[in-house]
Amino acid sequence: MVAPRFRSRRFRRSNVRTPGGSLVVHYDRRKPGRPQCSDCGEYLKGVVRGIPSIVRKLSKTQKRPERPYGGTLCSSCMRKVIIEKTRKLVVQDG
Ligand SMILES: [Zn+2]
Repeated sequence: MVAPRFRSRRFRRSNVRTPGGSLVVHYDRRKPGRPQCSDCGEYLKGVVRGIPSIVRKLSKTQKRPERPYGGTLCSSCMRKVIIEKTRKLVVQDG
């Protein structure tokens, strides 16, 4: 009988073949949900999705795209925000 904490679906199950040839069930932690754009809700590309303790070990540049609002907004929403900001600057100056 498996340990009580493994009886719920909190853990992902994967079948692993051991060196002895038998098939055993491994209980792995589930990945967190996919990161989404905070403006339009589209799933973000280039953002690592994994177990936090492993993602934490990666460098900052490996975790999200290297651009303004990288990892927060998608590229098209970022473009809109920047255009809107420069418009406001032009109005203030003129
Ligand atoms: Zn977006």
